[in-house]
Amino acid sequence: MSTIGSDSGQLVRRMREFGTTIFAEMSARAVATGSINLGQGFPDTDGPPEVLQAAVDAINSGEHNQYPPGPGTAPLRQAIAAHQQRFYGLSYDPDSEVLVTAGATEAIAAALLALIEPGDEVIVFEPYYDSYPAGIALAGGVRRTVTLHRDGQHWTLDPAELDAAITVRTRAILLNTPHNPTGKVFTRAELTLIAEAARSHDLIVLADEVYEHLVFDGAHVPVAGLEGMRERTVTISSAGKTFSVTGWKIGWVCAPARLVAAIRTVKQFLTFVNGGPFQPAVAVGLALPDGYFAAAGARLQQQRDLLCDGLARQGFDVVRPEATYFATVDVQSDAVEFCRRLPATARVVAIPSSVFYDSAAGDSFVRFAFCKRPAVLTAALERLTATVP
Ligand code: PMP
Ligand code: GLN
Repeated sequence: MSTIGSDSGQLVRRMREFGTTIFAEMSARAVATGSINLGQGFPDTDGPPEVLQAAVDAINSGEHNQYPPGPGTAPLRQAIAAHQQRFYGLSYDPDSEVLVTAGATEAIAAALLALIEPGDEVIVFEPYYDSYPAGIALAGGVRRTVTLHRDGQHWTLDPAELDAAITVRTRAILLNTPHNPTGKVFTRAELTLIAEAARSHDLIVLADEVYEHLVFDGAHVPVAGLEGMRERTVTISSAGKTFSVTGWKIGWVCAPARLVAAIRTVKQFLTFVNGGPFQPAVAVGLALPDGYFAAAGARLQQQRDLLCDGLARQGFDVVRPEATYFATVDVQSDAVEFCRRLPATARVVAIPSSVFYDSAAGDSFVRFAFCKRPAVLTAALERLTATVP
């Protein structure tokens, strides 16, 4: 993990590796240079009107503007449980097995702080989401990284490398599927391998599934649904991506009661609660008909194709993602340097995926977000023509 251009001030040792996040850094650059921002992953169109209206109604009703209950409002916890049942056949008790959090980010941090002792090892797959190493460090844990290797249009996991990363100190595997930044959807076979490792070494799996509904090829398989996994899996998701409301920061955890109780204890002292009027609105969203969820992925798929076809036509070496907001390009040069130059050369901002690696495997990978209106993607492609490596 590396950050660029960061000033961490007077920071404790365990967090010195982390400066300003790459997303904040690159979004600020986009504003400063008037660039099209294909860096930080946030959509430039609003989510379903009935969900937005529900938040407005909740504010105006005057009933949701004070602290909600610590675990989240009962209707939202019920809606989360019903969603897991409807899409995956997984049953969770809304009172003891569901917890509402301040986005998936808080869920990840609270789970790590609640379940990892100092010195415990946590397996992450690189490239990793930026908050994982920071959350592990906050907990005093040690990360062990397993690389997802690019193989043509796929990203593969070497079972021997996973096996080699597990030691007597390993406590958890932090898994993200669908995966940011590669757009990989872990296959059932890969998840089975991870599940077998977790069962045989008695590990917890933290499964970050925030892109669960933004899948174009293949199907999202929740690891909690695999044999023997419900009892050891903390499933994490959030409303941000599914309903195009990344600023609302409503996330959640589904897990067995003993794990939720631990995470809830920590969560109380991080934010206590958040997003009063957004909680009933997200409950409305989670109850939308199946068609909404299918359409969200289909619209994004067109945006993926627009960006990836355009980049490929221009001669970029692009890996077309199966899911998420993001496509990876191998720029065949240093990714950080490429992304530093890009606002000046093309007035486009992208993210160097290399900062999401411990190893050098991602040094030339750049992430472009396509969760933008087609006209914006077309304009970005025109600007990028001059920069093909
Ligand atoms: N995990 C992954 C893989 C992400 O891409 C993101 C960013 N949306 C998060 C977690 C954080 O989600 P939230 O905004 O709900 O905190
Ligand atoms: N998840 C978003 C991304 O990967 C960024 C969220 C953030 O800025 N922390 O682009």
